[in-house]
Amino acid sequence: MNIFGVIILVTLLVDFVLNLVADYLNISAMKPTVPDEFSDVYDDEAYRKSQEYTRETTRFGIITGIFDLVLLLVFWFVGGFNILDHLVRSWNLNPIVTGISYIGILVVARSILHLPFSLYSTFVIEEKYGFNKTTLGTFFMDMVKGTVLGAVIGIPLLGAILWFFYYTGSLAWLYGWLGVVAFTVTLQFVAPRWIMPLFNKFTPLEDGELKQAILDYAKSVNFKVENIYVMDGSKRSSKSNAFFTGFGKHKRIALFDTLIEKHSVDELVAVLAHEIGHYKKKHVLKGMIISIFHTGVLFLLLSIFLQFRGLFDAFYMDQVSLYTGLVFFGLLFSPIDLVLSIFMQMFSRKNEYEADAFAAKTISKSESMVTALKKLSRDNLSNLTPHPFYAFLNYSHPPVLERIRAIRKYKSTDTETTAAVTR
Ligand SMILES: [Zn+2]
Repeated sequence: MNIFGVIILVTLLVDFVLNLVADYLNISAMKPTVPDEFSDVYDDEAYRKSQEYTRETTRFGIITGIFDLVLLLVFWFVGGFNILDHLVRSWNLNPIVTGISYIGILVVARSILHLPFSLYSTFVIEEKYGFNKTTLGTFFMDMVKGTVLGAVIGIPLLGAILWFFYYTGSLAWLYGWLGVVAFTVTLQFVAPRWIMPLFNKFTPLEDGELKQAILDYAKSVNFKVENIYVMDGSKRSSKSNAFFTGFGKHKRIALFDTLIEKHSVDELVAVLAHEIGHYKKKHVLKGMIISIFHTGVLFLLLSIFLQFRGLFDAFYMDQVSLYTGLVFFGLLFSPIDLVLSIFMQMFSRKNEYEADAFAAKTISKSESMVTALKKLSRDNLSNLTPHPFYAFLNYSHPPVLERIRAIRKYKSTDTETTAAVTR
């Protein structure tokens, strides 16, 4: 075991323990009584159910985490990475196909081993709490589609990265970076139109009170809405949501059918206003710029670390190769990723506050945003009182009570800011 091995092992363990501590604090922070703010949407029974759901998903998360960690450590210490390398090399394929096979086998093996976990999560836990609407047919069809899609997208991308590193010398990281960036930008445009419809049906929102209210609101904030879709989320789960994708003319908003079913027109406009807020505040664009830089740093570091023989020795490799280097670098990079992801979550939570503020200031009844959030929390059995440390590590959205408190503040801000926002 050399320094690379020690760094990776320590990070894996620290990450695991940190999450375990956060889970423990989170469960301990739960109180048996409904927070006052929510007394109008929860009865005791519903609240107890939401807490039971948090407990059960936490326990399940811990078991999955232990499984993942043990699996990786066993495979590592029995020399699995080296054994697989000998096997793949014995097929005498060209270096790029060898690399794709090596990584492909790891990915497929991992998802097969994970299958019992996702089956249990969907058909036992989600079922028990009344969320699951998926049939076994849909579940396996999703898996087939996901695998084919992963292969169609992943194989050429991985092939291109390996090609750059094999044949373009010291600037390979730059080509690899540019290639991946071009690819992800394209995907942003392609995904809403070609990929998402493979999994869900998107129907344009039909004319009526809701559409009119949305159009009126959109006009008031100077937002062109051409694409509002209803997504058949109810095909898989009773949980509800809304999201925004794409840029420019290709931007579209999708509302889950389950969301429309359970909310008033004012609340739906509020949810939509929040999504438009993300667009107006350029959150999608900012997120993408950050990820472009992140990818660049990743490629540069990759090209440096590939030259260290020690990285390969740590995994008991007989031979050095580019594709195993990619896998080990992924593991070595995880300490940096651990820290980065905390910053990314902070950034995301800040964006959520901004989108809430935008919505609260631009809709006529800002209290609709509050009631929408309350109903969403109730219907999705969200944890209303997460421990701050848990939220700090894991939450992409601020805890709902903090969001409500903030929204109530925004609406009382002076009209000058409102004018600036709506302009
Ligand atoms: Zn949001």
